[in-house]
Amino acid sequence: MKRLEDKVAIITGAARGIGFSIAEMLSEHGATSIIIDLNHEAVDAAVQQIDDMGNRAIGFTADVTNSDEIASIFKEIHKKFGKIDILINNAGITKDGLLMKMKESDWDAVMNVNLKGTFICTQKVCRYMLKSRSGVIINIASVVGIMGNAGQANYAASKGGIIALTKSSAREFASRNIRVNAIAPGFIQTEMTDKLPQEVIDNYSSAIPLSRMGTAKDVANLCIFLASQEAGYITGQTIQVDGGLIM
Ligand code: NAP
Repeated sequence: MKRLEDKVAIITGAARGIGFSIAEMLSEHGATSIIIDLNHEAVDAAVQQIDDMGNRAIGFTADVTNSDEIASIFKEIHKKFGKIDILINNAGITKDGLLMKMKESDWDAVMNVNLKGTFICTQKVCRYMLKSRSGVIINIASVVGIMGNAGQANYAASKGGIIALTKSSAREFASRNIRVNAIAPGFIQTEMTDKLPQEVIDNYSSAIPLSRMGTAKDVANLCIFLASQEAGYITGQTIQVDGGLIM
């Protein structure tokens, strides 16, 4: 029997990058991965890729900041499967710039998707998990939410907020056997980091003790562990996957 056999897992922002890798790996371990993302074609392509490997996935096109849309999708998923076991809050964006010059619209956009989106999905899923007295929620934060970063005040604040939200929801839900943890990736190679100038990439990479950027699979591996029963006594934690970048 596979580690996550018959689990129903929702992953936001999963059409590409870290989210896709998590969805792919969850399905390899027996779960049905439910991909939620903004772009319809990208969602279809991601579902097809998992299907082609002989694993289970379905997709929904939605924005995590739209609470009505998220509520109705989660209701549909629950009606179809009779349960929701795992939620991975992964959707995230950056709109970098120095604080002094940062537009309020860039502050709001990042806080909305990263922090409010995580709150909305958590709130909409918890009614099902609380009723079934079981569930796992994993929030994708960032090392930047722990250490801060010049030029990323909005992003760092949103990720620091996710860490605090993780601890608060872990405390609220623990008595109902729902575990909530956060993963803080370091510098991971995806389209989000591909758009950075080579000089910034080189500077980061040289500061990483394990001397390489991380891969989406490095993050997905921890997700599988946290979602599994082997992590049954772990809640409220933020675990770094950063090659030793901060310690
Ligand atoms: P990515 O390659 O940019 O992928 C993010 C995905 O989220 C995209 O498919 C994007 O859709 C989707 N998305 C954006 N806004 C959304 C919304 N409102 N509703 C639903 N989906 C939305 O990013 P990534 O590098 O895989 O990052 C994934 C997560 O890891 C993020 O939370 C990020 O902050 C975090 N993280 C990444 C790194 C890193 O080094 N890459 C490090 C630390 C933390 P579109 O493409 O259509 O916009």
